[in-house]
Amino acid sequence: MAVGEFELIRRYFDRGFTSSSVSLGVGDDCALLRVPENRELAVSVDTLVAGVHFPENGDPQKIAHRALSVSLSDLAAMSADPHWFTLCITLPDADENWLAGFSKGLFEAATQYDCELVGGDTTRGPLSLSLQVMGSVPSDLALRRSGACVGDSLFVTGTVGDGAAALAAMLRKVKVSHEAYGYLMQRYYQPRPCFKEAQALRGIASSAIDVSDGLAQDLSHICVASQVGAIIDLPALPISSAVEACGTTSQQREWALHGGDDYQLCFTVPPENLVKLEKCIDRGLKATHIGEIIAEQQLMGRTQGKLYPLKKSGYQHFG
Ligand code: ADP
Ligand code: MG
Repeated sequence: MAVGEFELIRRYFDRGFTSSSVSLGVGDDCALLRVPENRELAVSVDTLVAGVHFPENGDPQKIAHRALSVSLSDLAAMSADPHWFTLCITLPDADENWLAGFSKGLFEAATQYDCELVGGDTTRGPLSLSLQVMGSVPSDLALRRSGACVGDSLFVTGTVGDGAAALAAMLRKVKVSHEAYGYLMQRYYQPRPCFKEAQALRGIASSAIDVSDGLAQDLSHICVASQVGAIIDLPALPISSAVEACGTTSQQREWALHGGDDYQLCFTVPPENLVKLEKCIDRGLKATHIGEIIAEQQLMGRTQGKLYPLKKSGYQHFG
């Protein structure tokens, strides 16, 4: 017999709660949560629709792990620490095999990022997920999009272009080695929200955003919010060796600038904080200087001293 709604919640989504910040988790009309003192609550929600954000017949464990990871990336982008999340899930049917895999991937990621599932909603319909993530950041230390100033240096963590190259490899649009394919799938299905990096950048960065829709488009959000422009030094873009091995330079730059799904942090640093940032980099923070903030409200690319306008396009639902 098919499992009912409440039994389904109990089996797959109720693991009790262990964090002292949770007074009450799954099971009542609301969860009760304690926001740590002298901190601001950071809240964000993301919806993922089957066939748009993940393949309808994809591995449920991977879908869940990725869904929570990409949702948490928004908390990292504000320099918030993750605490809790809620899950609204719409399912075509109560397929227990699917649910078991999904639940496994979900709690795997939740444990990895020390974040507890405290509630949600379960409905029937075409497969879709909404994850609301909640965290906290020391008061007044959140990294906003609006703080970039003319003369700030522009950085990005890790490597960019991996997400788009992964998608191209999955669709067999490019040929990659076995090893590179493994790396790209890991980057795509288990993107790591940049919590450590963002914590290190508190009080150092003037603005930040996570790179979800492509570096150019996400940087343009910083530019609009801060009323500035930016120059990106294209040869400085950090590209992984897996991506370097599977496309021309112009293809790699296209993936890096306009591809999306990288979940790195793009951030700006004022001149007076560059020494502090260097110290973080010496201690292991992976960040690359890729350009600077300018007054003219335009996004420009630079190669060999030549400037030209960059398109801002990346992924858009109604574009
Ligand atoms: P209500 O009728 O008050 O909306 P529900 O019957 O929808 O309550 O849910 C019962 C309890 O189970 C609530 O605490 C709710 O937060 C939790 N819950 C429902 N669906 C999920 C889910 N997918 N993941 C986690 N908790 C869930
Ligand atoms: Mg409900």
